[in-house]
Amino acid sequence: MQELFLEPYKELPGDGPLSWQDRALCLQTDPEAFFPEKGGSTRDPKKVCLNCEVRSECLGYALENGERFGVWGGLSERERQRLKPPKPVKHRTAKKAGSIAVEAENSTADNEDMSQEA
Ligand code: SF4
Repeated sequence: MQELFLEPYKELPGDGPLSWQDRALCLQTDPEAFFPEKGGSTRDPKKVCLNCEVRSECLGYALENGERFGVWGGLSERERQRLKPPKPVKHRTAKKAGSIAVEAENSTADNEDMSQEA
């Protein structure tokens, strides 16, 4: 009975999927340092991350959630970007390729009509 009562509270801080954040070393420092202005140094926050016990959880979270700004898991935005797999190359869809073929066919037919008229 007590388990049923406690079920809704499973996601409370300290027990949910983001509970690693409770142990984040950056909480004990200036959080602004982890989000430097464009072109600013990331050296100091990265030094903090080196000693953080939840570094891998932090990096995993940033990669999974596409965090675009700041230092996460000891890596800058650019460094995290390099870890991502390349985007797949978009190929022309069959429908679009078909319409291009029809356009080319019509264009040829128009040219033939014009040459017969001349
Ligand atoms: S790895 Fe760095 S950014 Fe991530 S929680 Fe630890 S100190 Fe904060």
